[in-house]
Amino acid sequence: MKKLNHMAPEARNRFCRPEVCVAVRKALKTWYRKHQRRMPWRETRDPYRVWLSEVMLQQTQVKTVIPYFDRFVAAYPDIASLAQADPQAVLKLWEGLGYYRRAHHLMEAARRVVREWGGQLPRERECLRSLPGVGDYIANAVLSIAFDQPWAVVDGNVKRVLARLFRMDAPVNRPSAHGRFQAVADDLLDRQAPAVHNQAVMELGALVCTPRQPACDACPLTSACRVFQENVVERYPKKDRKKAVPTHDLAAGVVYKKGRVLLLRRPDKGFLGGLWEFPEGRRRPHETAPEACRRSIKDATGLTVAVEEPVTRVRHAYTHFKIAMDVFTCRWVQGRVRLNGSSAFRWVRVGELQDFPLPGAMKKVLLHLL
Ligand code: SF4
Repeated sequence: MKKLNHMAPEARNRFCRPEVCVAVRKALKTWYRKHQRRMPWRETRDPYRVWLSEVMLQQTQVKTVIPYFDRFVAAYPDIASLAQADPQAVLKLWEGLGYYRRAHHLMEAARRVVREWGGQLPRERECLRSLPGVGDYIANAVLSIAFDQPWAVVDGNVKRVLARLFRMDAPVNRPSAHGRFQAVADDLLDRQAPAVHNQAVMELGALVCTPRQPACDACPLTSACRVFQENVVERYPKKDRKKAVPTHDLAAGVVYKKGRVLLLRRPDKGFLGGLWEFPEGRRRPHETAPEACRRSIKDATGLTVAVEEPVTRVRHAYTHFKIAMDVFTCRWVQGRVRLNGSSAFRWVRVGELQDFPLPGAMKKVLLHLL
């Protein structure tokens, strides 16, 4: 097994003295046993459920994930069933959870697990780590929680707790600082009880050592916590200032032909992969929204359309940008669909639109059509 510690001992010891680590581990374990929240994936140590829950929980809050998780395991109770799933049905179940690449990776990984490991998630870190979508965090979470192997997890909650506990000045959102947090987490890890320990640190970050106004009064770690002892809680964690998020102006058209509307499917690989959408495109400088709509539809499908009524203006935020999208009803005038960039198209009745996996922005358009 690969060595856990990635940092020179003298550097580690600056943060985590052995007697402090022992006290913190004990306090965390006791606190977690009493205060942990009930979650469907905590009722079991089934590696598939642990894996699925950790994938869903990336970038997403627990209360959002729970209903998705329940529906997903009802439809695909094990890796074998997921390996055989219709990708469009999986995307439909994932609709609204965002970061759709996760769903594609899950399916691809499930197929490989069936093919190469007889449907059982591998217990060796390198094998697990080789699966699509499995990075250090997912590998360490699955191995520790499902198999009780001594790997420390580091996510946003863990970094915040460590930054405060050990008064670490490394910015929690700076990618190059990740190794520093991982090394401290490795040191702090309770190797006798890694499943409980990892979940306890994350749970403390979620419930007590929260981003704003941490509940230090209710924290089991106050006597070890440097920022609490030194009365500088509100100064930690340190963060690099985020870049301003740009807003893109888009125009989209709901193109009607003989009582049906046109849907395009995005390519499987890439942003919002495999989801369906109305034809849309970026608005160019000096272009009005209806002009951008007509031109974008021509570019994406080869169709000539007449732009008719405005439907709505949709605003939607993604991780690195926001969109403001003007949507119009359009009437097909001439041409046959010739795709440029999309992977498929369908002419569908408005009542059928909900059967397709759609991105959040397109779901907002739907509210104005149904
Ligand atoms: Fe976080 Fe306060 Fe606990 Fe320190 S004492 S770990 S700042 S909640």
